[in-house]
Amino acid sequence: MDSKPLAGQRALVTGASSGIGRAIAYAFAEAGASVVVNYRSSREEAEQIASDIQQHGGKAFAVQGDVSEPEGCETLFGAIEQELGGIDVLVANAGLQRDAAFTDMSLEDWQKVIDVNLTGQFVCAQEAVRQFRQQGLDPKRSRALGKILFTSSVHQAIPWGGHVNYASAKGGVKLLMESMAQELAGEKIRVNAIAPGAIKTAINTDAWETEEAREKLLKLIPYGRIGEPDDVAKAAVWLASDDADYVVGTTLFIDGGMMLYPAFREGG
Ligand code: NAD
Repeated sequence: MDSKPLAGQRALVTGASSGIGRAIAYAFAEAGASVVVNYRSSREEAEQIASDIQQHGGKAFAVQGDVSEPEGCETLFGAIEQELGGIDVLVANAGLQRDAAFTDMSLEDWQKVIDVNLTGQFVCAQEAVRQFRQQGLDPKRSRALGKILFTSSVHQAIPWGGHVNYASAKGGVKLLMESMAQELAGEKIRVNAIAPGAIKTAINTDAWETEEAREKLLKLIPYGRIGEPDDVAKAAVWLASDDADYVVGTTLFIDGGMMLYPAFREGG
């Protein structure tokens, strides 16, 4: 495989100051892309990532923006236009959890998760598509007019009690992604999603921090290990590259087999 499969690509990674977004920012830069490291409040972390990338000869800069606010997305895309002259790949990664049992979930927590995890991905994607169209196709840069990678989850398919806001948002992302892919493929815009299983990040510390939690979690993962942010980042590089040029409207699960209903291994 090409060692720089994203050479010449300009990418925006939302929520890139930690976890999976951070790993994607580093992996994209390593693969040759210029990267906009978006953060909401963790400025220092985001600037550190951009500076690490620059020190390794790459191009990156950190931009503040709350993706759940249309103005936040506008600021982000304005900064990209100014610094990089355009965008070729959007990785809509920002997300959060606000968990509660169904009847305890406040409307505020329901709304917040929908705003960030679903509407935030929609708003950024809309800006990206407008930008792709304005730029036009440049076959020297990529076979596609532009690429969008949504960040879904195994919970776009696996119901998740105690997390109805999160599962609803990710279920929404699935059909947002597929409907957009269907609508835009004719323009050579590739829309796909990455769907992580259990990846060791700040969003799910409770699920892997203690030995007891780890053991319980591992029962859900046939491959026998908890995922690392890099597992997702490597898949994202491929999906964003021309090596995946014929991949359109697909959700790539990166989950060690979590989607295989492991509870049925011996039962059923
Ligand atoms: P994380 O908490 O480390 O990263 C989420 C990032 O999104 C943070 O940097 C946070 O600041 C940012 N963010 C939150 N609200 C934002 C906003 N309004 N504007 C801009 N940025 C915002 O957790 P992570 O695991 O790296 O999560 C990344 C994505 O992966 C999320 O969409 C999450 O739902 C998804 N995911 C994670 C797992 C997992 O096991 N870790 C599994 C499935 C899906």
